Amino acid sequence: MTAFISDNHVHSTFSEDGKQDMETIVKKAIEKKMKYITFTEHVDYNPADDGYLYFQYEKYSLAVEAMQKKYCDSITILKGIEFGEPHLYHTFFMKETKRNYDLIMGSLHWHGDRFYGGKQMAARFNADDIMKIYYEDTMNMLEYGGFDVLAHLDFPKRYYKFENTVSKRMDEILKTIIKKDIILEVNTSGFRKGYMNLIPDQNVLMRYHELGGRKISLGSDAHHGDELMADFHLTENLECFEQTLFINRKRIVI
Ligand SMILES: [Zn+2]
Ligand SMILES: [Zn+2]
Repeated sequence: MTAFISDNHVHSTFSEDGKQDMETIVKKAIEKKMKYITFTEHVDYNPADDGYLYFQYEKYSLAVEAMQKKYCDSITILKGIEFGEPHLYHTFFMKETKRNYDLIMGSLHWHGDRFYGGKQMAARFNADDIMKIYYEDTMNMLEYGGFDVLAHLDFPKRYYKFENTVSKRMDEILKTIIKKDIILEVNTSGFRKGYMNLIPDQNVLMRYHELGGRKISLGSDAHHGDELMADFHLTENLECFEQTLFINRKRIVI
């Protein structure tokens, strides 16, 4: 992969859990000599999520436009969303797909009213069962499709620190990603959460490659300017993959 000039997974205060406003983050991105930044604000329709109905498209859209106008000489600012469990919220998801985005990520955070990193889930199920259920939900989401990038595959491991395993089920998931022409995200947020691995980890990424997967989307999952491109240097050995970004929902290899 080339030098790191792009972060495809960033949250500002247009997400409920964002810690900094968009302009502060853009300034930080320019300081870090980034050429592209893709905001991927949370869009959630699970009532259990703190961000339920928080997202405001018009305000977000205007803010991206204003920032792009102001900083166009220094950086390209791209407008994306991280849509939670799209397969469960068909009408809402369809509405978003008709809007003018650069990138739509599909993301899985919840199983019913249980968060895939929360105590409730861990109290009810053991590690094997959590991952079994998670993979089932992931398959349903992938079969539904309609998004460009699958966010943080193996997300529960970021919280529960489960052992690395590449199961048969994972093979099916990776094959489906390739078949449906969805891009796999490599998410570096685990290093900030004590998981100390890429999400998904190197074993899964190598299996993805073996099965024919070549394109990845690299994201820090930053919720603060200081986290932009955090730990990207730990992906340097992934040169067998092509790093992509999205403009008007069309992929570009960088
Ligand atoms: Zn997420
Ligand atoms: Zn995110």
